Amino acid sequence: MILKIGCPESDSVWWLQRDLNFLGFPCGLIDSDFGEKTDGAVRTYQEVRRLSVDGEVRAEEDGTGGETWTSLLSEVQWVQGGLAKLGFEPGSIDGLAGDRTVAATEAFQTKYGLVVDGIAGTHTRGELENPTVPLPVTEIPHREPSAGRVIAIIPRAVWGARPPKQDNPQSGKDAEIVHHTITTAPGGDELAEIRAIQNAHMDGRGWNDIGYNLLVGRTGDIYEGREGGLAAVGAHASGFNTRSIGVACLGDYQTGTPTPETHAALDNLTAWLKGQTVAMIEGHRDVNATACPGDNLYSAFKR
Ligand SMILES: [Zn+2]
Repeated sequence: MILKIGCPESDSVWWLQRDLNFLGFPCGLIDSDFGEKTDGAVRTYQEVRRLSVDGEVRAEEDGTGGETWTSLLSEVQWVQGGLAKLGFEPGSIDGLAGDRTVAATEAFQTKYGLVVDGIAGTHTRGELENPTVPLPVTEIPHREPSAGRVIAIIPRAVWGARPPKQDNPQSGKDAEIVHHTITTAPGGDELAEIRAIQNAHMDGRGWNDIGYNLLVGRTGDIYEGREGGLAAVGAHASGFNTRSIGVACLGDYQTGTPTPETHAALDNLTAWLKGQTVAMIEGHRDVNATACPGDNLYSAFKR
């Protein structure tokens, strides 16, 4: 039995191994992408955590291919987030997936008439993704640029957004993920900068719309990104787009330093989101293998 990854990049397995090591299951990073030690660690993890192998954590026979890997860490956090939003107590304080998470999962499965098939069997996952309980997402009121310091968002029409190719899907969000754009403002024009980002995402990458839900400018302005508000499912953090609001600060913060105004706007926005449905604030590097949002921005908002 050999673990396989279904996607061309090895990032997913690297993150899986890292998460397993973090959780105390030696999986053998020196096995390169996958190997017997990783396979054994995953099986031990699944036994201890009562994860079923028909969820997003998969093992398969060598050579059959086609499976998609998702990090255990993000998967369990995602389940905990979904359960919490539905009113169950998954017990995030008892670790990534302690007894209370299992109990909450079983309560959820019993309530919805599901087979108790582990933390996230395929049936359970489908129910969590299409819950019968509505998930609250509050809209932030719009404003014109520089009209005050309240949390408000400059609408897409102001920066001249193109319409999305089709309506963006919606979902409840419980996380904010911070990015930097590694772009510059042509002639100091941030509106043109955002239009260029949208063009790159829609034409270069073939996405439906600009990937981020919100963008923060250098003078503290906050811009509406993807059409459909905070509930719009963006394209900014692999494996986390459904549950997270993507917030991108304009600029390069691996080499540059964010302005005090950018800091303040991000802090205010984050505080506001925490008062809504958002409990988790992460840098893009916390969930995917990337340097984003740059050392200088990451150390600033993680302080
Ligand atoms: Zn990013």
